[in-house]
Amino acid sequence: MTSTITAILSELIQLSNHLGDPVYDYAILGEGNSSVQIDEECFWVKASGAEMRTAGPDGFVQVRFAQVLAMLDGPELSDAAVRQALTAAKMDADAPGHPSVETALHAACLELPGVNFVGHTHPTAINMITCSVAFTEALSGRLFPDEIVACGPAPVLIPYTDPGLPLAREVRARIHAYLVEYGEPPRVLLLQNHGLFALGATATQVENITAMMVKTARVLVGTYAMGGPHFMSTAAVNRIYTRPDEHYRQAIMTPKDKE
Ligand SMILES: [Zn+2]
Repeated sequence: MTSTITAILSELIQLSNHLGDPVYDYAILGEGNSSVQIDEECFWVKASGAEMRTAGPDGFVQVRFAQVLAMLDGPELSDAAVRQALTAAKMDADAPGHPSVETALHAACLELPGVNFVGHTHPTAINMITCSVAFTEALSGRLFPDEIVACGPAPVLIPYTDPGLPLAREVRARIHAYLVEYGEPPRVLLLQNHGLFALGATATQVENITAMMVKTARVLVGTYAMGGPHFMSTAAVNRIYTRPDEHYRQAIMTPKDKE
């Protein structure tokens, strides 16, 4: 393994251990997974069964983009066929670990420009909303400027879908619709009855997005005790989103970008 690949892996390990730290309440036990792009050809993704809190080098598997993305474009596959295809996508067939069931979803995120790291968690504060009857309505507006600076102008909302390939396909379709609407990749995916995906250029950006989205969720739940959320107007959201000084802040929060 080259030193660059080792350095990228240690960043991912650090990110995963951070996201799995019980103090944040983002993920417990085997919940959550994470990934990082290595180059055009391949990426690291968490191995099935590894725990975010404690995952070390053996908790991650190197897989090829081409084979994983081909699963998204190909025919429906049985659970056994998906398992087989994921094994075949490993860079080193003899390496330990089996790629996470959400590997195809990670590939769909990492193929986007400006996305190098992906962190997926099940924060309690966020699932209070994704598991509620108010899922769509509660997440239809923005609450405060720093939410927009860290998390973008809107999240992508994903209705509950079977984990694995069906979910990855649904996510990819909704990301593409978002790209058409906003002209850039989303920073946040919110999955109904499931959790959060944070898409960042760096590991730090994934941590920042996750922390800010969890804060947003806490604020949002609190507003329902005070008569419900007061969303910012579209004009106010656009103003924050296009303000040069806010762009400057975004640049600080996104130190290195693709291309
Ligand atoms: Zn999950």
